[in-house]
Amino acid sequence: MAILEKLNEWSEKRTILKETAGVLNQYKLEREVPDTKELDDIADDMHKQMIEKEKQSIAKLQQVIIFATSKECLAAHLADYFGDKDAVPEGRCQFCSWCKSEQVASFNPPPKKDLADLKILVEPVLAACGVRDDSKFLTRIAYGISSPRFTLLKASLSKEKKVEEKQGLEDVFGSLEEEDYDMLSEVFEQACKDCNYKNANGVVKANSAPKTMLKRKAPPNFFTPKAQR
Ligand SMILES: [Zn+2]
Repeated sequence: MAILEKLNEWSEKRTILKETAGVLNQYKLEREVPDTKELDDIADDMHKQMIEKEKQSIAKLQQVIIFATSKECLAAHLADYFGDKDAVPEGRCQFCSWCKSEQVASFNPPPKKDLADLKILVEPVLAACGVRDDSKFLTRIAYGISSPRFTLLKASLSKEKKVEEKQGLEDVFGSLEEEDYDMLSEVFEQACKDCNYKNANGVVKANSAPKTMLKRKAPPNFFTPKAQR
């Protein structure tokens, strides 16, 4: 605590410049590090769970859109969902947007771009980030989804005082959030493949990850086939 107080004091006096550069989680090993095979199995398992979670989240979001765009009283719809249909007499609450205007909320997704268009759109992201060993990582940056590796990358740039590179990374973060996630993934995967999954010089790998995970190649089922979503 004493150290923190001193740092704050110096910062207030402008003796030093203090800036937040991400939080690093620390873990304590409770048993011996598993062997490579076990680590691989754990990584596979975690990857499967994450894909499953992603699918569930998208399905939930679709349910919300169906709810918001349904042609009926929203309160009645909700009450029905929770098994309490009688809570809204005659199925009309008289207060929700449907009861008041009989108009549904409209979601106008932008027209879908094709792969060739997306290839051009991802260029700034690829220019700002030299990571090529993880297409999902690049997709998340384009979509504005943070990850521990992204925090590490930004922190490493702060440490090396690469202000412009850090700014570039922040500029592209979330820049393609309206595009199709699967198609973006596909384009980034191709870009990674074109580079043989080799990162640009000087790209700091997620060096807190176990080595076996860094060497891992994406499993063949890396992308969720569209039909399953
Ligand atoms: Zn209503």
